[in-house]
Amino acid sequence: LIVATGATAQYLGLESEQKLRSKGVSACATCDGFFFRDQPVAVIGGGDTAMEDALVLTRYASQVTIVHRRDAFRASKIMAQRVLEHPKIQVRWNSVVEEVLDVARNKVTGLRLRDVVSQAVTELPVGGVFLAIGHKPNTEMFRGQLELDAKGYLVTDRTCTKVPGVFAAGDVQDVSYRQAVTAAGTGCMAALEAERFLAAHGA
Ligand code: NDP
Repeated sequence: LIVATGATAQYLGLESEQKLRSKGVSACATCDGFFFRDQPVAVIGGGDTAMEDALVLTRYASQVTIVHRRDAFRASKIMAQRVLEHPKIQVRWNSVVEEVLDVARNKVTGLRLRDVVSQAVTELPVGGVFLAIGHKPNTEMFRGQLELDAKGYLVTDRTCTKVPGVFAAGDVQDVSYRQAVTAAGTGCMAALEAERFLAAHGA
């Protein structure tokens, strides 16, 4: 058995956000950043993914605004420092997204933000918005049967789980890269491990 159930990107849960997915709302800057050349974009989140996404987006976008709900990043110091020193990146601290605009125009034109300290509501014009608020590995069905780490990802050793004949590949066992090419690579590794397992068992 090769488990390849992936990890699901977290969304804010706003109706407007869901309606504008793939119309300017994305959860993958590496995949979609290219489509926002010379446009202002926003990244939501304050972890390492948000920092990495913001830095990737500076290659394409005219301006990158990180919107974070608190007044401090969760990200590692080095990543946060790179972001804060980047001339194309600005940060809207203590801010939450109330609405992704503009569903009536069927494309992203901006964000309605609320400052959680002052309660001031403002609009930020952007052509794209990138969610970087975490991923949830799709592992609930394996709880109690396969070993999970503290974040719920499957624990593997070169794609092998601790259960003989059960392997895992892709984002379900990869908290750090989450790219199609790394998933495909571990898929190949798991297939080779499975083949060896079958050969060793006379199949
Ligand atoms: P994290 O859980 O570390 O960060 C998620 C961020 O999103 C937090 O800042 C959190 O805010 C914010 N957030 C969560 N839910 C909401 C919400 N509903 N509304 C608004 N904001 C929200 O996830 P990451 O994907 O950033 O990172 C996952 C792991 O991968 C981490 O261990 C990270 O270090 C690692 N990683 C490392 C990289 C590197 O070293 N280059 C690159 C990418 C990831 P708050 O802080 O307030 O909780």
